[in-house]
Amino acid sequence: MSSALSRLTGVLFAVLCAGAVALQGQELPKVKLFTTGGTIQSKGSHRLKLSEYSDGRVQPSELLADLPELTSVARVEVVEISNIGSGGMNTDLLLKLAKGLNAELAKPDVTGAVVTHGTGTLEETAYFLHLTVKSKKPVVVVGAMRPWTAISRDGLFNLYNAVRTAVTPEAAGKGVLVVLNDTIHSARFVTKNSTYRVETFVAREIGPLGFTDSDRVVFYRTPLGKHTAESEFDVSSLESLPQVDVIYGYQEASRAGIDALVAEGVKGIVLADGSPAYRAALLEAQAKGVVIVQSDRKGSGRVLLSDGSAARGQVTADNLNPQKARILLRLALTKTTQPKELQRIFNEY
Ligand code: ASP
Repeated sequence: MSSALSRLTGVLFAVLCAGAVALQGQELPKVKLFTTGGTIQSKGSHRLKLSEYSDGRVQPSELLADLPELTSVARVEVVEISNIGSGGMNTDLLLKLAKGLNAELAKPDVTGAVVTHGTGTLEETAYFLHLTVKSKKPVVVVGAMRPWTAISRDGLFNLYNAVRTAVTPEAAGKGVLVVLNDTIHSARFVTKNSTYRVETFVAREIGPLGFTDSDRVVFYRTPLGKHTAESEFDVSSLESLPQVDVIYGYQEASRAGIDALVAEGVKGIVLADGSPAYRAALLEAQAKGVVIVQSDRKGSGRVLLSDGSAARGQVTADNLNPQKARILLRLALTKTTQPKELQRIFNEY
């Protein structure tokens, strides 16, 4: 073959391949990948550094470049929100993320969304989105327990499975989902259970919703309770949220923490258990309009509404752990400060 002919054949082949990819690409669902950072976007100095690494080192393009298998699952488009450890997640970023998701999911050609996040506070952001995303389309929050550079990185497969979940029709209408370690959890119930193990995410007492197995993404259950499209919370015009803090209960705890928060102007306090010294401080706080929600430090089981706490105007968190009760209270306080109405909200969400 002459070199001119072989060049022409090469060009024709390339054009045909590009056409086939484009055709395949058009048929694939579109998934928006919102990146915020965390260990899934971190690097260690070598492959055996599993727990020492720096956040903010892996760009979204590197996530996708290392995962060519995704090109046969979905057309993934990136929206970068931040590239930080999840301890730095704040109200501005949460609102930016929720508003960004709502804008993208409203587009008819977007099938679902995936959010990368550090695992430390992942459950808080996932629950915030569960309450504020106005769509039935799948939203999957994903992270990793090992850095992107680790010898046994889990982020790669977690991300692959998160995108698979986001294009699974059964994932729609179930609220925000959390996918790590082949397991699908509801944002309402999931919590981080171990500092270090890859099987860290669990939904105590409740269990997972399904699994991202290799043959198919399989669901066995759906969460009850209000969320996403049925949620009454609307962040579209919010630029800030009321300040709510958590106070931990333990033997001989002093009231100083409560007094300091009240002096700072806190609007709500979530109690992770109590202490005798809290009683007077809480009554004084309530007299100044601070809302008190009783949660529990054990992280499992319901806090029952007693006649005594209802009479004191306190609200119970049902089985929300303190960090999630804080998220719900911040949103609830954008609607009301009445204890009865707040209790209705805690019962429904
Ligand atoms: N440092 C991490 C974070 O951003 C931990 C993780 O992602 O696993 O929370």
